[in-house]
Amino acid sequence: MPRLVMKFGGTSVADLDRIRNAAEKVKREVDNGYDVAVVVSAMSGKTNELVGWVRSASKPEGHDGPGLYDAREYDAVVSSGENVTAGLMALTLQEMGVPARSWQGWQVPVKTTDAHGAARIEEIDTTNLDAKFNEGMHAVIAGFQGIAPDGRITTLGRGGSDTTAVAFAAALKAERCDIYTDVDGVYTTDPRITKKARKLNKIAYEEMLELASLGAKVLQTRSVEMAMRNKVRLQVLSSFEDTPGTLVCDEEEIVESNVVSGVAYSRDEAKVTLISVADRPGIAAAIFGPLAEAGINVDMIVQNISEDGRTDMTFSCPSDDLTRAQTVMEEAKTKGGINYRDLVVDQDVSKVSVVGIGMRSHAGVAATMFKALSAEGVNIKVISTSEIKVSVLVDRKYMELAVNALHDAFELEKTA
Ligand code: ASP
Ligand code: MG
Repeated sequence: MPRLVMKFGGTSVADLDRIRNAAEKVKREVDNGYDVAVVVSAMSGKTNELVGWVRSASKPEGHDGPGLYDAREYDAVVSSGENVTAGLMALTLQEMGVPARSWQGWQVPVKTTDAHGAARIEEIDTTNLDAKFNEGMHAVIAGFQGIAPDGRITTLGRGGSDTTAVAFAAALKAERCDIYTDVDGVYTTDPRITKKARKLNKIAYEEMLELASLGAKVLQTRSVEMAMRNKVRLQVLSSFEDTPGTLVCDEEEIVESNVVSGVAYSRDEAKVTLISVADRPGIAAAIFGPLAEAGINVDMIVQNISEDGRTDMTFSCPSDDLTRAQTVMEEAKTKGGINYRDLVVDQDVSKVSVVGIGMRSHAGVAATMFKALSAEGVNIKVISTSEIKVSVLVDRKYMELAVNALHDAFELEKTA
């Protein structure tokens, strides 16, 4: 029988009524003839509550930060939210006449690394599941968890049940992996910014990765990477509305690709410029090495032309990292690694990007983008491009205006 993975996020299993609503969707697919593996998250808010308890229980005097507790016990506690919803979902399905049982990660088993709190799935052995499917028994799997080589329980990092679902879809060779959530798909841009935003029927993995990392936070990025590697067809759809969602798939499945599929943004960015650093081999390494060591997520980088052997270097990073970035640069200057004259920061910038696989074969996207921004009087502060994306930094107060202008310029309201 064909197999289907159906994943329900926290808001979709937030109480018994919603679990019943989700179970009805499962029953429908069972009636359609699928062997179904249901993957569930914890009830919404539950994981945060569990994390809070772990912090409180292990707070030494005067400390409140993460990393001070035993990560194995963190996983033992935090993984438990999914056990509850898996059991309740199995009970609800049974009550509807659908034979089903719950599976915790270790029971399958879902074998992971021992990086507690951020473990990676290494292997899913489906022998036990296969045997149960052959008996007509559907599976309800607790997402987000697995078992380390030493037998301890692990978790996959926040939002990790998306990754559980994709990993099962790959291991079970499922026809599709449906991710049920509280939005009904992936949009051409954030519908809160423009009412003209349209739901996309299909989007390529690469595009989804660019949109996800830029703020369209529907799927855990790692799950999209895993889907792309294993060619798992992913559908994002609503638990609460009966409308088709967005299929995230291989670009070969997209017959008529849009030149631009979406406009993404990241509101809180900062721009840092080092004025007049020596233009010599090793200077970029001397700047970005220490920033990387400090865990600062540097995004765009621009190096100016050099004059008299000196050059300016500009980079952007999330606003939250700005203070640390400044400290790291000042330390590097004191230690003599980089001798810049001035450090200029701009804290009030946002990044706006247009994304589309069609850019590979169409010229002129950047020009259209710049023209649209210029028509609105929006100044561009930094530009960067990749094969399927053009990004600009603009003053934060123009971010909404820029997103709207670009959405219009690429006629995304006509997206079918
Ligand atoms: N319950 C976990 C979390 O809140 C995993 C998930 O929902 O994907 O991060
Ligand atoms: Mg989630």
